Amino acid sequence: LAKRRGKDRADVYDESLHATNQSRTRTAAALRRGLAGEGLQVHFQPIVDLALGEVVCAEALVKMVDRDGGLIRTAELVDVAEETGLITALGSWVLRQACTEVAQLRRETGWAMAVTVNLSARQAALPGLAAEVLGVLEETGLEPDGLSLELTESALLEFNDATLTQLNTLRDHGVGIGIDDFGTGYSSLTYLRRFPVSFVKVDQAFVRGLPGSERDAVIVRSVNTLARDLGLACVVEGVETAEQLHAVRDLGGLFAQGYLFSRPVPLPALRDLLIRGIEVPPHP
Ligand code: C2E
Ligand code: MG
Ligand code: MG
Ligand code: MG
Repeated sequence: LAKRRGKDRADVYDESLHATNQSRTRTAAALRRGLAGEGLQVHFQPIVDLALGEVVCAEALVKMVDRDGGLIRTAELVDVAEETGLITALGSWVLRQACTEVAQLRRETGWAMAVTVNLSARQAALPGLAAEVLGVLEETGLEPDGLSLELTESALLEFNDATLTQLNTLRDHGVGIGIDDFGTGYSSLTYLRRFPVSFVKVDQAFVRGLPGSERDAVIVRSVNTLARDLGLACVVEGVETAEQLHAVRDLGGLFAQGYLFSRPVPLPALRDLLIRGIEVPPHP
């Protein structure tokens, strides 16, 4: 019986592995088409200044529309890009596209909207990073204060002094540098000491438990305090409900991002949202 069960399990495993591989192969093909100009998009998710009740920034998130019109899961797209080595090409594409679209929005509206772009570890380790970013700003006409880069703690793990120099150069030019998914990686506090960080983003894992979890509440409050005392901005990610927003504010949160305000949307929809103004539920 044990043997039989073992075999059935292996079959199930093989099947799901097969499905995963098929999906990855499809995603890799879509990614290559995307980089060749078909179906790749940047969507923007607003970041809200809770005191002003205004969108001050938006995070650029890559989206890929498959040939059947469906959206490919972004996390899978980025994973496959990492595995195939296409991540630096994808990252460059997103950077240029996001800066182009936001520069245009700023020109058309006169608003000082800023954009944050995610950087992969591989991209962050490129010796030409600062030159590339400054070149894109120059070409697209986006002012350096209109751009921030988000690095995860795992991306920072592989850092050396050369990368530090690149980031310092970018900071000196006014580009923001932030730590994404703060609190989920290793030696978070070391990164705050070593790198020219201007903001942190509290991972959505800590927001999921609010308002119920006292532990999550203590963590979110502590990160807000830490950021404030270090002179950094702190964005709380993944706010889905008005209750979570109330909790975040009670815990000293000043900036928030999440489905409560908006999902990631294409630029025209972001523009509409900015014109209409964002609904921030009042703080009771
Ligand atoms: P991230 O940088 O932490 O981005 C936030 C993710 O959380 C996005 O998922 C966003 O849609 C999602 N999110 C935002 N608000 C909520 C909420 O209230 N509830 C829930 N459940 N989710 C929320 P998305 O777009 O699927 O992206 C996943 C990850 O893929 C990103 O996580 C980032 O690590 C990576 N990624 C996306 N675009 C790029 C890119 O251009 N370059 C690189 N290197 N990575 C990217
Ligand atoms: Mg991010
Ligand atoms: Mg994040
Ligand atoms: Mg994440």
